[in-house]
This record gives sequence, C-alpha cells and structure tokens, in this order.
Amino acid sequence: MPLSIAIVGSGPAGFYTADALMRKCPECEINFIERLPSPYGLIRGGVAPDHQTTKKIAKKYERTALTDHVNFYGNVELNRDISLDELTNIYDAVVLAVGAPNDKKLTLPGSDKYGVFGSAAFVGWYNGHPDFRELDPDLNIDAAVVIGNGNVAIDVARVLVRSPEGLAKSDVPDHVATRISASPITDVYMCGRRGPADAKFTNVELREIRNLRYTIPMVKAAQLPDDVDTASEELGSREQRLRARNLQSFREYSKFTGNEKPKRMHFEFFASPVEILGGERVEGLRLERTRVVDGQAQGTGEIFDIKCGLVVAAIGYRSDPINGAPYDKARGIIPNTEGRVSEGLYAVGWIKRGPSGVISSNRPDGEIVAGFIHDDFQNSGGEKAGQSGLEKLLKERGVRWVSFADWQKLEALELENAQGPAPRKKFVTVKEMLSALDG
Ligand code: NAP
Repeated sequence: MPLSIAIVGSGPAGFYTADALMRKCPECEINFIERLPSPYGLIRGGVAPDHQTTKKIAKKYERTALTDHVNFYGNVELNRDISLDELTNIYDAVVLAVGAPNDKKLTLPGSDKYGVFGSAAFVGWYNGHPDFRELDPDLNIDAAVVIGNGNVAIDVARVLVRSPEGLAKSDVPDHVATRISASPITDVYMCGRRGPADAKFTNVELREIRNLRYTIPMVKAAQLPDDVDTASEELGSREQRLRARNLQSFREYSKFTGNEKPKRMHFEFFASPVEILGGERVEGLRLERTRVVDGQAQGTGEIFDIKCGLVVAAIGYRSDPINGAPYDKARGIIPNTEGRVSEGLYAVGWIKRGPSGVISSNRPDGEIVAGFIHDDFQNSGGEKAGQSGLEKLLKERGVRWVSFADWQKLEALELENAQGPAPRKKFVTVKEMLSALDG
C-alpha cells in the first residue's frame, strides 16, 4: 500500500514538504488539510498586497497541488472537523504546517483600548483574510504608531500610506482600499526598542520606502552610529552586510526635512513602548528612551509621548496549541527534534521553529521532514486508509470540503472580477466562497 501522508496547513512550509515528499517518495499519497477554502497560507494572507511579485510563488505551489497523488481538502479545520488523533489513525504520517497565526501579546497598560491591533489581525484585515473581515479599524486619524522594527512592521507602515494608485495595483479588498485612501493620515512612526543596527528590515523593503509617491522616510541623524561596522564578531558576514546597507539607507533618509512630500514615515529608534494613552480609544503612545547594552535595550528613564489614533504591534507571532500534540507555551511552538514530534507526527515551518525567516527558509524544513518520513517508513510501507478514510469521516460529518478543482473555480472568479490594474478581487469570507461554489 502507498504511504499516506496528511499535511495540515497549505502555506509555504506545507508546500515545500509536499514538494520534497514527491521527490523522495513519488508513490506517496499526500493530502493537504486546510481550514480555509483557499490554499497558500501567508502567501495569500500575510505577504503584503502591494508585493505581488512575491505572491507569484503560489504558481509553483499550484503545480505541486496539481500533481498526481496530491489532493487538497480545504474548509476542513483541525479540532473542529477532525481531531489530530483521528488524523493519526487515518494516515501513516501527519505533518503539522499550521504556522503561527496569533499575535505575540502586547502587555502594556492600555493595550485593550480601541485602536490597538496586533499585526496578525491588521495584516489579515488588509489582505482580506476571512478571520479579520470585521476588524473595522478607524483610519480617520492623523498619525499611527507601528511597534517593532521587522519586515512586518515596515509592511504595515507602508500599506498605511500607500497611494490610491499603488493600492489599485494591489489585491487589497475594496473596503480596505477605500478606507486607506480616505485616511487623512500624515505621519506613521515605526518604533524600535533597539538601534538602527539592530533593525531587522531587509534592505529591499527599507529602500522601497524612498520610492513611495506621497511619503518621505525620516531618520534622526543623532540616532545613527558614526561607523557602519557596529556589528559584533558573532554576526555572520551576511548579517553584517545587511546592517551596513540598512545604515546607508538610514543615513540617506536622515537628510530629509519632512517637507519633501505630504506624508512622513518616521523611524524612531531607542524607543521602548511603556503605555497606551487615551480614554476608550487610543490617543497616544508613551515610550521610554533606551540605550543598547550587550545587545539588550535598557531604559534610560527619559519618557516621551507620540500622539496617534492607531497602534499596531508588529512584535512577532505565536502558534496555537493543538489538542493531542505537545506544546511549548514559552516559545509558542510544538516541541520537536529537527521536526520530529513523536512517532508518525512531524512539524515544519513556524510551528516547528517560531516566526522567523523568509518564505524560502521553510524549504529545508520540508526536506528534513520528508527525509525522516522516507526513512521511518521504508521498511513498513503504508498501512493506513489515508484519503478514503478521510473522505468517509468527512462525509459522515457532513463537512463540505473544498477540493483543489473547487479552489481553481474560485480563483478564476477572483481573476475575472478584478478591476483595472488589480490582479484579482479576493473573496473575503468563507460564506462567499462556498456560495460561489454551491450557488
Ligand atoms: P521580527 O523580524 O522578529 O521583528 C519583530 C520586531 O518586534 C523586532 O524589532 C523586535 O525587537 C520587536 N519586538 C518584539 N517584542 C517586542 C516588545 N515586547 N516591545 C517592543 N518591540 C518588540 O518579526 P516580524 O516582523 O513579525 O517578521 C516575522 C518574520 O517574517 C521575519 O523573519 C521577517 O523577516 C519575515 N517577513 C519577511 C518579509 C519579507 O521578506 N518581505 C515580510 C514580512 C515578514 P528586538 O529585535 O529588539 O527583539
């Protein structure tokens, strides 16, 4: 019998695993279990909507999904429609590739005020993720603060000041484009608790800010080190080059006065948030000036406020615990050894190693786990029902699963409904997607 493998989650980590499995074990039966009717995880719901070139990787994943022996079961949710125990009974091997969909919590006084959002929610909202259709952030504001100095922070800050022309070429849903375009926002502050050399932006993303139509980046020259080579010896040369390039960009940005364009994006370093200000709604952020000692931010006691009507915390993500699997609460991941969780159970991507790295960083995870599965089962072969067992159980439960052919119908409609230069008009609720399929 062919080996049957369930991959839970159809984002990059899941697809790289399927791809590696197809090479290691061409006869294996691979089933994706995905809670949304749409595949591709963070490629669709996380990568910024104005970065369409990055999203093109989905075409490669599509080729994998269309391969013989690979099947997609969308709109099937772990814990809701099927349990992990049931999956491990049905499949020889189960690979968890469910990512880290939750925001690391901002634990400041006032974090519960209206107008404070985590980046998972905010990015999900502007990307048309069904979970965040109702988020409804008020953008009738003059200023926003984004906490964090990573690529998610810079994505959020950029999308907030994207021109209507720029948004029109993206796939932000209409309700989002309308809200952003109508916003009178003039200033976005990006606050890093450490210095410019510690910022985690990749340089392409940082340089992109220079080319925004209505927004000028601003950096305080006094916050920049004299020497670009501030990196310690522990850093690899790649990391040192990135820091040097970023510092070069910051140096260029420090020459702007702020009057060059109507909007400003302020890079505020050595600024650690201490309190969200305001009544029911956010009216500002209180911060403490820091200095960096041995790589750590230390408060100096100097306090200052930034007035704003929106705070987005882009400070990292966490995975959910999964019933039936172990969970490391401190790190928000599934404890594992190189991707092995227990007999027949594996983890890849952010649920395995936490929310770090770019899309291609998931590829080695898939290769390693595919190698384990190949080695673990090469003597025994497949013994479990796999796909037929899954379909039997889903039918008994009346689950309307979405096949890859169904998804292709939905995608064709999204492409057909696109307006002007937009690449697609996304469905933004599960209900809309299922009605489009079933009438
Ligand atoms: P990240 O790169 O780890 O950045 C998180 C930021 O939050 C850091 O600046 C961190 O500061 C700060 N932070 C964490 N806890 C904080 C706290 N309690 N208070 C204040 N600041 C805090 O994570 P990310 O931006 O969420 O991105 C996740 C991964 O996705 C990254 O690997 C990223 O490169 C990748 N990604 C890539 C792209 C792209 O390639 N275009 C786009 C989006 C995301 P410290 O450094 O001081 O801890």
